[in-house]
Amino acid sequence: MKKKPLVVANWKATKTIKETIEWVKMAKPKLGEITGIEIVICPPFTSLPFVTALFKDTRVKVGAQSVSRFSDGPYTGEISSAMLDGLVDYCIVGHSERRRNFAETNEEINAKIKNLSEFKIKSVVCISNLNEIRSLESVRDKITAVAYEPLFAIGTDKPDTPENAEKMAMLIKKSLGEQVKAIYGGSVDPSNVAKFTRQPSISGVLPGRASWNPGIFLDLLEAIRLNDQTA
Ligand code: PEP
Repeated sequence: MKKKPLVVANWKATKTIKETIEWVKMAKPKLGEITGIEIVICPPFTSLPFVTALFKDTRVKVGAQSVSRFSDGPYTGEISSAMLDGLVDYCIVGHSERRRNFAETNEEINAKIKNLSEFKIKSVVCISNLNEIRSLESVRDKITAVAYEPLFAIGTDKPDTPENAEKMAMLIKKSLGEQVKAIYGGSVDPSNVAKFTRQPSISGVLPGRASWNPGIFLDLLEAIRLNDQTA
């Protein structure tokens, strides 16, 4: 049987602190009941301490959306791995929006993964092509999950096919090792999520927009749970 699916909710640059608290209030009672899914909520930095405090003593995990490639020091505006220590269990690294809008390179992404591993924070690394998978080979032992997120599928309502996502998941595992979880992201929603999580090499999903509304996010988790029961 497949292990607990991993669901990494990427809130991107959305939600004030007030909106964050409202989201948690609405979702927490149901989220707290879910046992068979590793749920990771990744809010913006400003909301992180609130989400961590509100989900304390529950099974729900919290993640950051990025981290500095530097350690503490003269790097104005940066958030280091040491600052995230104790606040998060996970961190998204190398999201295509960061590669594109902030010119993040493969080398910088590897430096971030190394920094996070020093604090035992789990890296969920986003890739969209084979070169980006290969660039992770030297840090493969420091990665928890790799999310295949094709650029055409992010924010477009045009997901990749489950068959192609499965092929990429197999390549991720072949290149980086079976210990790395391969997950899929790109226009995942409650109606299509099970088609991805049912693939043998796909261990979870990374929803963006489908995690912003608590009702839709709970529907997405329910779709995974129902599929697992019938699988
Ligand atoms: C993402 O945030 O990485 C993402 C895939 O967004 P969406 O689910 O909205 O396409």
